[in-house]
Parts: sequence; C-alpha cells; structure tokens
Amino acid sequence: MDSVWNKILNTVKVFFEVYIVEPVKNIGIIDIVDIILLTFVLFFIYRFIRERRAIKLLLGLTLVLTLSLIGNALELHATSLLLGNFMQVGVIAILIIFQPELRSALEKVGEVPSTGIRNITAESKDAAARSADIDALCTAVSDMSRDKVGALIVIERTTKLGEYIKSGVPIDAAISAHLIRNLFFDKAPLHDGAVIIRSGRICAAGCFLPLSTNDEINKDLGTRHRAGMGMSEESDAIVIIVSEETGVVSVAVEGQLQRNFNYVTLKQELNRRLSSSVHGDGQKKHGKKEKKSKKKNSN
Ligand code: ATP
Ligand code: MG
Repeated sequence: MDSVWNKILNTVKVFFEVYIVEPVKNIGIIDIVDIILLTFVLFFIYRFIRERRAIKLLLGLTLVLTLSLIGNALELHATSLLLGNFMQVGVIAILIIFQPELRSALEKVGEVPSTGIRNITAESKDAAARSADIDALCTAVSDMSRDKVGALIVIERTTKLGEYIKSGVPIDAAISAHLIRNLFFDKAPLHDGAVIIRSGRICAAGCFLPLSTNDEINKDLGTRHRAGMGMSEESDAIVIIVSEETGVVSVAVEGQLQRNFNYVTLKQELNRRLSSSVHGDGQKKHGKKEKKSKKKNSN
C-alpha cells in the first residue's frame, strides 16, 4: 500500500516540477502573453460550457481523465488503455454533439458588429422602407395578439439561418401585414412553425426551430415559446412570439424572453434592436434602457 502511495506522490511531485516549478523559474514576457491568451481561451470555453449547460459532461470528462491519470501512475495498463481510448473517442463525440453550438460560437467570433438595418431591409432600402417593414410586422402582430392567433416570427441578423430556412417552405415576398396574418391563419397549411425574415423579405414559412433546453423557462410556456427561445440561444436573431392561448406578445433575444409587448412597445423594441448597432453612439443609451425594459416586461 505504501509503495502505491509513493508512486502517486512521486507522479504528483514530477508533475508539479515539470509543469509548474520549472516554467515559473524561466518565465518571460512571451510566456505572460501566452498565459493571457490562454486565459481568454479558457474563459470562452468556460462561458460556452456554462451557457450550454454542459457542466455535467465536463464533470464526467474530468472524472475519466483523473481515473486515466491514476491508472497511468499505478501502471494499470488495461485500465489506462481503455480510458485513454475513451478520451480520444470522447473528444470526437463532443465535437459531433456540440457541432451546432461550436459553429455558432465560431460564427460569433468572426462576426462583424451587427448590421441590423442592412439585414431587415436589403442594403439598398432606405430608412423609410425599414420603418414600413417594422410597421407591417407590428400591425400583423398586434392584430394576431388581439385575435389570439399563434405566431412565431424570426428576424435574421448576422447569424445565418439557412438550415432552419431549409426546413420550411420558401416564400421570398415583401413584408406585409396581410401576408403575415395569412401565413399564420390557423386553417392555412403553413401556419405551423415559424416565418423567417431575411434581408427585408419574408424568406420562408413553416420552419422548424430548435427547442430550448433551458430548465428555467416558465413551465406554463409550451413548445412555441421554447422554439423561439431556442432560436435566440443559437443565433443573434430577434424572435417575436404571439401566444395562441393568451394573445401575449413576447420577444426572445440572446436567450432572454421579454413579455407583454403591445404595438407601441414592440415598434420601439424593433426600431432599437434593428438600428442600434449601426448608430454607435446610440448603443450605450439603449444598453441602459434595455435593462429597464427587461425588468418591466419580464415574466
Ligand atoms: P401558445 O401560447 O400559442 O399555446 P405554447 O408555447 O403553449 O404557445 P404550443 O401550444 O405547444 O406552445 O404551440 C404549438 C405550436 O407551436 C405548434 O403548432 C407550432 O406551430 C409551434 N411550434 C412548436 N414547436 C415548434 C418548433 N420546434 N419550431 C417551430 N414552431 C414550433
Ligand atoms: Mg400552448
């Protein structure tokens, strides 16, 4: 038993000497830059794991890694071979399981600051056309809210939503309140699923969105709201949800659901979200407002 402990202590000692004591002795400016960069990378990995609620997976991997190190130290060949192979397969499995998240995280890294105006309206459209689009959306949404017609509308911004657009039926039409109401009319074949707006056009309808896995979502909210939340977690899209049961209008952005919008507040919200990124100075002011309006509309 003593020799086992000695082996473990020896491995820990060698580990500390090789990886901690020696590097600290020879530390230079390049190493400091290296450490800062690594800190950023680890911070982003931590945030990614926390946001995706992958903490259990991380704990599992840490356990396997620890067992594998102990196996190595004790020279348990069969165990360490098995766990070592498991780790290799595990890394590939993680890449496959988190492929959509990794892709959207990488897209976010390479993202130019949001170009909301350009995306809701094609580049050539002017502010008046954008305002008309927002008016049409708000009119349709408030009418559907009054009549308790369920709706799910996604406004694409910088994250491309091609795979979700493909899941629906292509439309490619100008935004109009009548068309939106028609698409969500409950006897119409395309009313199930989401309408996706891209570059100022109704791009597709009947689209299937990813459901949120957030356990903290109000249990009274069903799949329409979960799908809206899921879309906002996966991308920087703005998602408008009209409840068929209550007529309540909600907006999901970046995994946050704000509720109880009406024509006026929805119009303010869309104007702000779709233009703030372009007017750099406006962004700070809006940032403050956002916190207030979140409180007001939350739950
Ligand atoms: P409501 O308040 O309108 O009842 P809800 O959040 O309670 O909404 P459900 O009652 O489950 O949700 O709504 C079901 C409708 O939501 C479906 O008929 C469909 O139109 C839409 N929906 C459900 N899941 C998805 C999805 N993954 N992608 C797009 N639309 C979806
Ligand atoms: Mg429901």
